[in-house]
Amino acid sequence: MFDLFESAVGGAIEAQIAGLTGLQANTDTRLTGTTDRLTALEHRYERMQLVLVALWALLKAHTGLSDSDLKAYMRNVEAANSGAAGKPAVIKCENCHRIIRASATRCVWCGATVNAGNAFQGT
Ligand SMILES: [Zn+2]
Repeated sequence: MFDLFESAVGGAIEAQIAGLTGLQANTDTRLTGTTDRLTALEHRYERMQLVLVALWALLKAHTGLSDSDLKAYMRNVEAANSGAAGKPAVIKCENCHRIIRASATRCVWCGATVNAGNAFQGT
């Protein structure tokens, strides 16, 4: 009788351990994928920053515009893209219907492409 009980409980515990082992493997895979995506995003950000610095240097060299001109334009663009009370303008993602920034090119929730007409999409 005791052996039967121990066998039944032991089997249930082994099944739980197997389930947890599978869950751990799944979590490890997801974390690795997230790390890879973060690294790719960091590289893309650094590349975009390099392009922006180069473009600004080119523009300054050929137009005579100054850093203060750029700052003034940045404030104007920010104001034009802001909602009420200086908060960023938001829209609803057409795919998942969650709230995202109007300036976003991808939904942060589901990854859907938004603002297809944005000139800076894909840079
Ligand atoms: Zn979405």
